[in-house]
Amino acid sequence: MDISIREKIQIEGSKITVIGLGRSGEGASRLAKYLGADVFISDSGSNDELMEQSRLIGSNGIDVETGGHSKKIYDADLVVLSPGIAQDTEIVLTAKAKGIPVVSEIEFASWFTDAPTVSLTGSNGKTTTVHLLHEMCKIDSFSPALAGNVGTAFSQIVLADLKDKPSDRIYVLEISSFQMEQIVHFRPFISVFLNITPDHLDRYNNMDDYIQAKLNMIQNQGKNDHIVFNFDDPILKEKFEGVHPQTHGFSILGKGKTMFTMNVTKIYDEAHATLIQLDQLALPGRHNLANALAAATAAKILGVPNSRITQVMSTFVGVEHRLEKVLNINGVTYYNDSKATNVDAVKVALDSFDKSIHLILGGKDKGGEFSQLLPHAQNKVKEIVAYGQAGKKISAAFGDAIKLERVSSLRDAVEVCHLRAVTGDIILLSPGCASFDQFTNFEERGKEFKSIVQEINLQ
Ligand code: ADP
Repeated sequence: MDISIREKIQIEGSKITVIGLGRSGEGASRLAKYLGADVFISDSGSNDELMEQSRLIGSNGIDVETGGHSKKIYDADLVVLSPGIAQDTEIVLTAKAKGIPVVSEIEFASWFTDAPTVSLTGSNGKTTTVHLLHEMCKIDSFSPALAGNVGTAFSQIVLADLKDKPSDRIYVLEISSFQMEQIVHFRPFISVFLNITPDHLDRYNNMDDYIQAKLNMIQNQGKNDHIVFNFDDPILKEKFEGVHPQTHGFSILGKGKTMFTMNVTKIYDEAHATLIQLDQLALPGRHNLANALAAATAAKILGVPNSRITQVMSTFVGVEHRLEKVLNINGVTYYNDSKATNVDAVKVALDSFDKSIHLILGGKDKGGEFSQLLPHAQNKVKEIVAYGQAGKKISAAFGDAIKLERVSSLRDAVEVCHLRAVTGDIILLSPGCASFDQFTNFEERGKEFKSIVQEINLQ
């Protein structure tokens, strides 16, 4: 299939292989089917959930294989990749060697809509910030839709929109670096870069490859498009010097020329009108100030009035599993930060508190440097309880610097903390690792934490 000119891409009657039957793969398959393609999905997994999904989608006339990839995947005019599939896996390399174009699900979906897209990426804070921005865009003149990494596949929304044809549509997309690996035409009106810190080093060879994957997001942007980026992030600041799109920085350190500026008490705009007093912000933690400024800057470019931006900033309390306050039991407060899957997110969580923390770390190691937590933990963290596959590495990283105990499960970790905590203490699950050694995903880990806490409350 010739995909070099977006407007001339012919889907009807073509053969499309979709690799991976997650939300993205399913969305892309249904969209391709609707557009008249002959669709084949291939997934190497074979768990119960996948088999059920495969049965459902199979009943829609889409051909599915599970439990491995057969040669049939190469009988295709186009391959659409789910974000879970790395670009250097054998099937991707073979498809490319056979001359079959390979694109990401985001790229594929973007061919079938011309509505403006705000595409947001970063190592941490993406979900929180896209939710903030989506809320800010809920004004009469827009019909915003939230999609991407955040839960609903972009393809699923684009398909619904092809049928319903909503007016004034704006897409707010949460984008992971994986979703930018196979980009050809994808062109956001605004791309937002929150921060770039080491993450996913299990998938990328080095930091440069990881940064480059994220920067693919701007490759098709022109001079009428916009980049919103964090002035306080030295990597981002350097990368966006002299690029074509219009650049807009944001900063919590008062750096550079910004649409919104922060001082010790408030955020104000270029006309020095107050946007919000800092103590009115509903989200806790300094990191969320950066997220709020990023969302506000993108919203302003879209034409959202200050009054709406202020309203959202003062009412939006956050997303589940992100520094989520669970319960206070006998003066001990439990926080679920299960979404902190890398070391930088843990630093941020620690910086949000100023006292006696029992920190639960652990899970599946993603290649992070746990010793970097030391300056953020000293004089604040009473003890670390490490569990799961990464437990040994965590305990080696801290040595004798902080009291540390290793246990095998999350339940044991919570119970150990519960036994030792006294009034005024904080028990914080901010694991700094992926969840896949013991849970399906971070949501399941966070829910398990909350249910253990509920059980403790009933004891
Ligand atoms: P993402 O979708 O990028 O993973 P989330 O909004 O889900 O981001 O937040 C994930 C974790 O990252 C949270 O636990 C939070 O503590 C931390 N975090 C949120 N915003 C920032 C930020 N701007 N800088 C650093 N860490 C952040």
